[in-house]
Order: sequence, then C-alpha cells, then structure tokens
Amino acid sequence: MPGRGAAARRAQPVESLGAEQKERRVSQYVPCPRCGCDQAAKVSFTWWGGFLGPSLFHHVRCPGCGTTFNGQTGRSNNTAITVYLVVGGCVGVGLLILILSLL
Ligand SMILES: [Zn+2]
Repeated sequence: MPGRGAAARRAQPVESLGAEQKERRVSQYVPCPRCGCDQAAKVSFTWWGGFLGPSLFHHVRCPGCGTTFNGQTGRSNNTAITVYLVVGGCVGVGLLILILSLL
C-alpha cells in the first residue's frame, strides 16, 4: 500500500491556542474544597462509576491532598455516588426481577 495515510492526521490549527492556555495553567475546575489547590484533574475511571460515572459528575481529584470532588460545584460527590450506586443497584435488581418473571 504506497502513499498510505495521506490525510489521516491533519495538523491541528488549535495548537497555538493550546500554547496560550498553557501559560496560565489553571485547572478548568473549581479549587479543591480541602486545601484550595486549583490544579484538580479529571478522574477518568472509578470503581463506583466505571468510565461513565466520573464524567457524569465532573469528578476530579486534587493532586495536593487527593480529595475527589465535583469539579463544577466544588462539593463532594459522595451523595451523587451513593445515588448512582443505589439507582444502578435498583435498575440491576429490577432487570433481574423482570428477567425472572419472564422465565
Ligand atoms: Zn486538595
């Protein structure tokens, strides 16, 4: 296959914009509610929500103290996590009952 990958990877015009943003590398999330660190980073995977949960709740982790919280509200995600687990559990049980009733 000669001439492969002609337009596969186009140069990103956003590159200059990204460099500008790097100068003031303040996180896009609210500062840590515990230590005030503003470098919180997105959490992509958690035991309780897989890949979906953390992105649903803007789940971020503070690199300073390790606290995880909602990057948009600055509040703990514990309530949301609990609801997520309970709802997930109910849906699971509901599906199980549904499947069992169909047998
Ligand atoms: Zn912190």
